[in-house]
Amino acid sequence: MALFSEIHREIRRSVREFVEREVEPVADELDNAEREVPPEIVQKMADLGYFGLIFSEDHGGMGMDTLSMALVTEELSRGWLSVGSVMTRMLITGTLIEAHGSDEQKRELLPKIASGERLTAAAFTEPDYGSDTASMQMRAVKDGDGYALRGEKTWCTFANRAHILTVLARTDPDPSKKHKGLSMFLVEKEPGDDFAPPELTGSPIPTIGYKGMKSYSLAFDGYRTPAASLLGGQEGKGFYQLMATYEYARIQTAARAVGVAQAAFDAATRYAKERVQFGVPIAKHQAIRHKLAHMATEIEAARQLCYFACTRKDEGARCDLEAGYAKAFAAEMAERVTSEALQVFGGYGYSREYPAQRYWRDARIFRIFEGTSEIQYEVIARRLLDDR
Ligand SMILES: Cc1cc2nc3c(=O)[nH]c(=O)nc-3n(C[C@H](O)[C@H](O)[C@H](O)COP(=O)(O)OP(=O)(O)OC[C@H]3O[C@@H](n4cnc5c(N)ncnc54)[C@H](O)[C@@H]3O)c2cc1C
Repeated sequence: MALFSEIHREIRRSVREFVEREVEPVADELDNAEREVPPEIVQKMADLGYFGLIFSEDHGGMGMDTLSMALVTEELSRGWLSVGSVMTRMLITGTLIEAHGSDEQKRELLPKIASGERLTAAAFTEPDYGSDTASMQMRAVKDGDGYALRGEKTWCTFANRAHILTVLARTDPDPSKKHKGLSMFLVEKEPGDDFAPPELTGSPIPTIGYKGMKSYSLAFDGYRTPAASLLGGQEGKGFYQLMATYEYARIQTAARAVGVAQAAFDAATRYAKERVQFGVPIAKHQAIRHKLAHMATEIEAARQLCYFACTRKDEGARCDLEAGYAKAFAAEMAERVTSEALQVFGGYGYSREYPAQRYWRDARIFRIFEGTSEIQYEVIARRLLDDR
């Protein structure tokens, strides 16, 4: 059976058109100026339905499959990683709500998230606990008809622009409870750089890449959230609820990596055909043509791993292993391919004049977020060595 239907091909065509028209002409300038993804681009993505692609039509989504989500992600990230990453947040929060939310949360919030009326951000990581999710310390203490949040989160990307922070917090202070003491909250806030001092403050973290999204350190000092914001109305389930989003998030991250690597390959190929050294285009020198051939091979391998994970997910099968293969391989592939693309540009690759440096700076994040490579390989090893 062919992997792609006519609908998939049409999705790819239409996203590519959007990216060529709206994203590619501005990506370099905005990234070099460290400016965020403009609100108009976010709104257009919302209007095109990108934030609700895989949510059911009953909940305001488009009811599409995982493969469609990967295709959209790949094409957006090919234009600018930051653009392909805006939808990640709505994907994570929406998936959490669709899988574990109360009927009211599904009815009230999901259509707004799908339509972009409510933007979201994920606040899981803490300064002292990143990979070790089960040990997170931020507290949510019962306070009248709601909860008071106290503690710190870090690396909360898009926190300034979000209306909803998806926050993992400890409702049971007993340290022996570990992951069983964690709960997930859908915390409302006003969008903007000011947050809500003194109960909620935030400061952006300077980064080497991923410039169109700002990631924030957040301090909660008694910020109140109503009881209705507890995901599914259940305390102590946050860790398990989060696990349910990992397959989608890792597939989507693999697709982002493929998109960035493809963009780097395209730019390097164009340059190699134009740049003349020793009287011929450098694409005629074997070292360069084999470099490009190797890059293309690696990209295609990562892409197929990603699509394979999508197919498994769309068949309704467990696919943490396949999503792990795709994420781990694509992350490392993107780092190698973007570095080689920069090499093809020679000295110009190191300048801000060409986009090769942007792809390279952006690609370095893939081995770190959505589960570091080390954690990813541990998850894979556990499935292969311990579960069988
Ligand atoms: C640009 C950016 C955006 C991000 N966006 C978000 C976001 O929106 N929301 C959010 O919640 N988080 C976000 N993160 C956080 C990201 O998910 C974490 O950085 C990541 O989970 C790793 O956690 P850590 O940085 O604390 O590293 P640590 O967990 O301290 O790891 C440090 C090193 O030790 C290794 N290590 C740790 N434990 C083990 C182990 N058991 N075995 C082997 N090696 C191990 C790691 O692989 C890593 O190499 C973002 C991070 C960045 C850089």
